Amino acid sequence: MQARSDMIRREGKTIAFVPTMGFLHEGHLSLIKKARQLGDAVVVSIFVNPAQFAPGEDFDSYPRALERDCDLAEKEGTDVIFAPNKEDLYSAVFQTYVSLGELPNHLCGISRPIFFRGVATVVTKLFNIVKPHFAIFGEKDYQQLLVVRQMVQDLNFDINIVGSPIVREPDGLAMSSRNTYLSTEQRTSALSLCKSLKKAQTLLESGTTDAATLINEASDFITSHPETVIDYVAICDPETLEDIKTIDKSALMAIAVKVGVTRLIDNMILKVAGM
Ligand code: AMP
Repeated sequence: MQARSDMIRREGKTIAFVPTMGFLHEGHLSLIKKARQLGDAVVVSIFVNPAQFAPGEDFDSYPRALERDCDLAEKEGTDVIFAPNKEDLYSAVFQTYVSLGELPNHLCGISRPIFFRGVATVVTKLFNIVKPHFAIFGEKDYQQLLVVRQMVQDLNFDINIVGSPIVREPDGLAMSSRNTYLSTEQRTSALSLCKSLKKAQTLLESGTTDAATLINEASDFITSHPETVIDYVAICDPETLEDIKTIDKSALMAIAVKVGVTRLIDNMILKVAGM
């Protein structure tokens, strides 16, 4: 992959990179479309990164479908698919990790303490291997996007990080490879995430600016659905992820819920009218 990237660069072409864990859906394909617009060559990586899964999480059962993914990615105009093995990226003596300061102390970082260290480490490795000019990340994983932006700034990566909006099913469910775990009943419960975000925006528009009230309304709505256990419902600053008490400008509302055994996340920027 490094030799291939060197060749592309020597030809004076730019590389746009989309890192994924595979089992591609329309959300991933929207990132590939964006990459196609940004770079001369599009590289997609498919790698389920063991370093970001804690023991007991779904590393082993994470859905994998490499051939199907290759077909989908190629149809969107991907030039190179990089799909290394676990052993290719993590040798038996692997011992170097990227550690982060404040950002992982919020949202997903609290219940998944090694997650962002794993993400930052694999993204660094992939950047060094793929040598992209642009890298595209989905706003679905909002905190991950912030972590990558921060890391690129702090560690002087010469890479332009581009965010891309959440792609949803027609009924609003944020697309995720993990949706495949859901039964029909659980999928109905899973819709409570996006519905509660919409509800919060509507309440805000009608004058409820108290974050705790919005969080309680959303939490009650979610837990009224079967098989839901809330990890967090938070309203926070979109840059620092610090909690916000009263919404007077735009705020990030972020949610993580276990539906059965499946952990799902969603988020929305809440906007005060006129801001
Ligand atoms: P994953 O394969 O889940 O690690 O995701 C790979 C990339 O696709 C990440 O940058 C995600 O944020 C992005 N992504 C996943 N789901 C969606 C979605 N529904 N809409 C937009 N981007 C997404």
